[in-house]
Amino acid sequence: MECANCQQPATLTCGGCRGSPVLDGDAPIVHYCNATCQKADWAKHKSQCRRLQDRLTLYRVTDIAQKLFLLHREVTWSQFDVQRVEKSGDSLYLRGEIQEHVTWPEDYKVFPSHMFSTLEGRNAALTLMACIDAWQFMNEFVAGMLKGLVNKCEHIQFKTKNDRKRTRCYPLSTPQEDIDMDTDGIRHEVLKLTLRSREQFAVDLASAQYGYSEPVIRWKEYKELRVLFEYLGSGLSAPKALGRLDVDDYSVERMLFFWDKLQKSKKTSQAMDYLEAINLLMLEWQADEKLSIRKLLKLP
Ligand SMILES: [Zn+2]
Ligand SMILES: [Zn+2]
Repeated sequence: MECANCQQPATLTCGGCRGSPVLDGDAPIVHYCNATCQKADWAKHKSQCRRLQDRLTLYRVTDIAQKLFLLHREVTWSQFDVQRVEKSGDSLYLRGEIQEHVTWPEDYKVFPSHMFSTLEGRNAALTLMACIDAWQFMNEFVAGMLKGLVNKCEHIQFKTKNDRKRTRCYPLSTPQEDIDMDTDGIRHEVLKLTLRSREQFAVDLASAQYGYSEPVIRWKEYKELRVLFEYLGSGLSAPKALGRLDVDDYSVERMLFFWDKLQKSKKTSQAMDYLEAINLLMLEWQADEKLSIRKLLKLP
């Protein structure tokens, strides 16, 4: 590699933007032969460096947000009372009842991990009909972690296309013929973020139900790949922007603990440590399902 300043062979890289995801082959890794060259090049590199740092932060934050959201869904599992899981081609059917009115936390159930043989299947179940939940629970976290980086935030509702997986819940009594005939698409919702660098991204924490795992994708690509058509002006109950939620929403209570901890931590790396701690606790919790959610959430 050659130095961005003097074009001599160089091995050092800019610590600011190192590790930023490469998109469309843009070359984020700048090399320098020494600190003097880096200093001399700074005026030129500064704006690119900030753009790449913002991008890196966005990717880290959405990765953590997705993990936390999945964990949150698991420990507050209540929407579906699953009796059986059926697979048919690209379809995953949870057979059981959809719980219409869930109160916290009396109706929480143990997530039936044993019914899913793959992580994809498990995450598909955890994100089923959860796109608005994702924003109810993760809005404050994402807003706090991306403070200052986002110029515009929009909630986009749309009909999906190119689904790799079809996840649904049907009562045990629904005959297979009726399931086969039910081809209705589901309305999905994602966050469209315009960063201060003007880069635009789709943040989709509940995409596993459709067979996708990336929490963040460039908006242009996401739109081409996933959006059949947008429902204009249909915000429904979702928060309109990154910011405070309606505190009357019962779901806020459920996520408050996470937000509090994570927002206090400020730095992404500390949030990462916290996430690892949660992951370890989750393993313990899975090993011993008698551990209550309240207790789990109160552990450090
Ligand atoms: Zn140099
Ligand atoms: Zn840099």
